[in-house]
Amino acid sequence: TKFIFVTGGVVSGIGKGISAASIGRLLKDRGLSVFMQKFDPYLNVDPGTMSPYQHGEVFVTKDGAETDLDLGHYERFIDEELTKGASITTGKVYSTVIEKERRGDYDGATVQVIPHITNEIKNAVYKAAKESKADVVITEIGGTVGDIESLPFLEAIRQIHSENNKSDVLFVHAVLVPNIPGSDELKTKPTQHSFKELMSNGIKTDVIIVRSNGIVTKDLREKISLFCDVPVEAVIQSTNVDLIYEVPLVFHEQHLDDYILKELELEDRPASKGKW
Ligand code: ADP
Repeated sequence: TKFIFVTGGVVSGIGKGISAASIGRLLKDRGLSVFMQKFDPYLNVDPGTMSPYQHGEVFVTKDGAETDLDLGHYERFIDEELTKGASITTGKVYSTVIEKERRGDYDGATVQVIPHITNEIKNAVYKAAKESKADVVITEIGGTVGDIESLPFLEAIRQIHSENNKSDVLFVHAVLVPNIPGSDELKTKPTQHSFKELMSNGIKTDVIIVRSNGIVTKDLREKISLFCDVPVEAVIQSTNVDLIYEVPLVFHEQHLDDYILKELELEDRPASKGKW
């Protein structure tokens, strides 16, 4: 199984979930099987107790788990039914670890964020891979890089990268490139800072997905490529579309699927060839 981790930078709500789901759709259309999961940094065990005004509606999976509404996007995009393993919150991770501690499972060890919480997070990823038997597991990390809450998740995915082959793990970072009204300039500085913040957590992104009100020109791509140490073809714009189901097409036009397949050393499944 290959792993793709999607993080978000600069601001929340930039379409990280839609980007993750769109990547899933592209890979499915290349004949690969895909499982998706979401890590949410909040302390609620699941969003079942959260006001829909705060967090949108709860999405219920076929096995009865009350999950984040992003799972609804995932299912609609990849056309696969997901299970409770697709939704992991900080609250769920901590309650599992504390339950184990009370049972004496840790055999006298001092229970800590690293390695106990991070191991539980890693288990969730590996378990999803094992149970789904998917070619690719796509994991979206909720929140924005730089938040205190997301640190254990970032540390866990860093470890997954270091304990697997380089061609088995791909990091995708979704950012906002704002434009300054008046001068109408697009600014990449927040992207550069977010890239650095990720690097300080030991994660070097492989792909950058840009949301912007402007057009991400060749020059701008080259600038992001230079500062964030990714090839120009790995800087992808998630153009503003009227219908979110167009996002996979927008990515495909920029050859994101080819790039991911190349990086993860994956091949199309023959039956799907020529589908696009
Ligand atoms: P995040 O996961 O970063 O919080 P979401 O994926 O939930 O963000 O997207 C936030 C909102 O932005 C959603 O309402 C979604 O429909 C919209 N959105 C995402 N990508 C695009 C796009 N390329 N064009 C237009 N709207 C988008």
